[in-house]
Amino acid sequence: MDKLIFATNNLNKVIEIRSLLNDRFKILSLAEAGIHIDIPEPFDTLEKNAIEKCEVIYHLKKINCFAEDTGLEVVALNGEPGVKSARYDGDKKNPEKNIDKLLNNLKGISHRNAQFKTVICLIVNGKHNIFDGTCKGIIIDKRKGNGGFGYDAIFVPDGATKTFAEMTLQEKNKYSHRQKATEKLIAFLEKNKIS
Ligand code: IMP
Repeated sequence: MDKLIFATNNLNKVIEIRSLLNDRFKILSLAEAGIHIDIPEPFDTLEKNAIEKCEVIYHLKKINCFAEDTGLEVVALNGEPGVKSARYDGDKKNPEKNIDKLLNNLKGISHRNAQFKTVICLIVNGKHNIFDGTCKGIIIDKRKGNGGFGYDAIFVPDGATKTFAEMTLQEKNKYSHRQKATEKLIAFLEKNKIS
């Protein structure tokens, strides 16, 4: 079975994607592939950042690989934090401070609709393929739950009564943006017999 590098240093993303890929595809995180770099996300769209992360690794290792970029888009904040989600409160990428800033910016605002969006870029034999997935929901006014990561504790997906942080990984996978994008990735890998 070919190995695919998943170009991320975020262990939570590796755990989520592995749970979705089951044993059908063997993926290596950057650390497992012996790559110890922090890949920049300099662009103004999720797609451009996903492509950049993937290209950096493909050119380094010449192995099929994929990367993803995810953002939380809040309607009342004109789509912010969006592509800046990781650095919403500054370059330290502090998830707690990011949540504090978001809740602060939403104070007094009753329209709390938002969506997570994930864009995956896969490079196979030098060719790019893009897959995306979204999950709509609302931002609640204080944290609930201890699981998950990032903004999970303040996001309740449509059709659910709990935040992502109150869900098991399997429950989150039923709704998640990453799951929807990964399903498209899996369909492509299977169709093109890349497993
Ligand atoms: P990036 O894709 O690594 O740039 O992450 C963007 C930001 O969104 C980071 O602050 C992540 O912690 C957060 N994030 C990414 N995916 C999720 C998710 O599934 N749930 C909650 N927060 C997330």
